[in-house]
Amino acid sequence: MQYPLTTLITLVEQIARTQDPEAMMDAIVGRLSDLMRVEVCSLYLCNPEQDSLVLAATRGLAPEAVGTARLSINEGLVGHIAASLNTLNLGDAPADDRFVYIPETHEQPYHRFLGVPLIHLRKLIGVLVVQGTQQVPFCQEEEAFLMTVASQLAGTLHHLQRSGSWMQSTDNSPFIRHKGIRGAKGVGCGRLWIIDPHMTLDQVKPGFNSDPIQEKGDFSEALTAVSEELETGSGKLGHHLPADVSALFSVYQMMLQSPEMITGVNKLIIMGDSATWALKQTIEQMAESFEQSNDPYLKARSEDIRNIGQRILNQLLVHDRQVIEAPDEPLILGGEQISIADLAEFPLKRIHGILCTGGSALSHTAIVANALGIPAIMGLEHVDLDNHRGDKVIVDGNRGECIINPPSPLLDEYRRIIDEERRFMQDLDRLKNEPAQTLDGFRVTLLTNTGLLADATPGLERGAEGVGLYRSEIPFMIHDSFPTEQEQYLLYRKVLEAYAPRPVSMRTLDIGGDKQLPYFDMTEENPYLGWRGIRFTLDNTQLLVAQVRAMLRADVEHGNLKMLVPMVSRIDEIVTFRRYVEKSVEALNREGTPVRMPEIGMMVEVPSAMLLLPKLARYIDFVSIGSNDLTQYLLAVDRNNPRVSELFDHLHPAVMLALEQILNQCKALSLPVSLCGEMASDPAAVLIMIALGYDCLSLSAYNIPRVKLLIRSVSRQQLLPLLAQAREMEHEAEIRALFEPLIESLAGPKKPS
Ligand code: PEP
Ligand code: MG
Repeated sequence: MQYPLTTLITLVEQIARTQDPEAMMDAIVGRLSDLMRVEVCSLYLCNPEQDSLVLAATRGLAPEAVGTARLSINEGLVGHIAASLNTLNLGDAPADDRFVYIPETHEQPYHRFLGVPLIHLRKLIGVLVVQGTQQVPFCQEEEAFLMTVASQLAGTLHHLQRSGSWMQSTDNSPFIRHKGIRGAKGVGCGRLWIIDPHMTLDQVKPGFNSDPIQEKGDFSEALTAVSEELETGSGKLGHHLPADVSALFSVYQMMLQSPEMITGVNKLIIMGDSATWALKQTIEQMAESFEQSNDPYLKARSEDIRNIGQRILNQLLVHDRQVIEAPDEPLILGGEQISIADLAEFPLKRIHGILCTGGSALSHTAIVANALGIPAIMGLEHVDLDNHRGDKVIVDGNRGECIINPPSPLLDEYRRIIDEERRFMQDLDRLKNEPAQTLDGFRVTLLTNTGLLADATPGLERGAEGVGLYRSEIPFMIHDSFPTEQEQYLLYRKVLEAYAPRPVSMRTLDIGGDKQLPYFDMTEENPYLGWRGIRFTLDNTQLLVAQVRAMLRADVEHGNLKMLVPMVSRIDEIVTFRRYVEKSVEALNREGTPVRMPEIGMMVEVPSAMLLLPKLARYIDFVSIGSNDLTQYLLAVDRNNPRVSELFDHLHPAVMLALEQILNQCKALSLPVSLCGEMASDPAAVLIMIALGYDCLSLSAYNIPRVKLLIRSVSRQQLLPLLAQAREMEHEAEIRALFEPLIESLAGPKKPS
């Protein structure tokens, strides 16, 4: 028997699309028994304690045995597979010594037996079994097929197993608890609102219309909207084009009015195509004919026509989106990734939670959610959020799980927790003007990480002593095009002014990885090792110079700017950067703007920068440790990949060693050092850093009061013996467990029950 790859793919896709856990498990056993033409197919799943297996679904055994038939690990053939983690293929199962008859299954004398373990990320999830009456083992193809199906389904089943909802089958309520990765702490309830991904012209799929008049009208409105954008110059193109671009503006206007395009699109609409599909075909055709031209000027116009096409598409999509307005009630935003631009479309107080099917605890969505105090769950790759549009959802960021369609008592319990949390946070306001100082007088400066003007006020309200990390890429990500020097200047001035006289470390543009600009395509095979941070800005010198000039000009009034360079991995990067700053200082002074040379700091987030500190020290004034990336690059664990998120922990012994080494080197080199990764919000990590001697941390404003309370509740002396023990440990889980009792015993918010 042959099982073509397509059969496998279709099977796995069909099953993965089924949302209800029981229906999904029934689909697995049903489809498999049909495909493999066997009398029995059964799925056994491990219980949460991992000490027994329970029959979770079957085709062929007694249905009433589901949920009740149990085997210990190592009991019977299924238990043997679970214990040995090995496939078992027998021609006569009852004759095998290990065979155990389970009465509630009413098992007939089936002879052939094939069982494979289901393993996800090293963990046993359960066992998948097929049985038949013939007395011969299954053939090699059948064995290989079942193994492949099992490995494909293990991830999906793992999430079902973790949700545990199938175990509660006595309760008929349709609520499902999904486990993901903790993105940002806190708890929120609201209605799920799906953010549809930004569509590029390339991604438009064939579509048809039922009302050509309406569709033509939409297209015509989109043309007018783009034309207005161009005319006012305040739209999507105007911002970043240099002064001699009026000619280009008219080229764009001409293209927009080109009869070839307008009639091309309208003709296709009349023939039944949707406006977006008609647009895509027409633009592609025009771009290709420009490309074929021998005239370099015309050749270059293919870029422009695609650009225009994208802008018309944006307008058509805006038009579609407006039809369904988000309801005026608490919302939980869902999508693969939620960009900052997406967040900016809603009033912040309406966003009560975020659910992402992609990403991990350190992806930029999680970082922004943290900064804004919005609970977030990442990596829900197994959940088809689309199927739950408009459903009520609880986001429990403390546990990293969401509950879809919760029953009323559960919803009430969570509302109580949310209230309690709010009161706790209000209570912490009393600490605003108190120092972050341990009981034995070790003083820690708490700075804030920011990037949105919206969180400047919360930072000050929560007692930030300055800004340790201003992520300048965030405003770039909200924009529709590269912001001009003047636009940046106005923005930076506001930030510097808000915090003056406190210092503000402004980091130059750090895009790349999962921080993408909607208007600049940076598709790369391995983006975290590619065009990131200072590499990108040095290569795009005009952007770097504009940004440096904007920062220097913004500093004139209050003189509280420090500059911070991201992703430094080589000495020449910081040398070149310094030279650009010096040159910009000279040029601005020559132009009559009296700017000063600011302190220049370097992010230590690439291992080479850490090792080169003694050589780099002469070119920098301070160091800021980016523990998110330092952990990623030290451990070779992608910070944005849910599959390896369990391996990403900044308490890993190697990261601790690195932190100790950096601190010692900085002390020896008399370089001020702080840490600005998410680690500065993790209680166990904070205690370790205090014990090590770190006296400056930068974290999201939302977390400052809690961290301050923690620092004020301990003495450094009490932490030193724990640090000595942690140094001897081999695993991050042990290190975390070592600090947990102390953290639990200190004053803190009540944990959700
Ligand atoms: C870091 O890497 O720790 C950091 C603060 O920078 P970002 O998270 O913005 O990459
Ligand atoms: Mg970083």
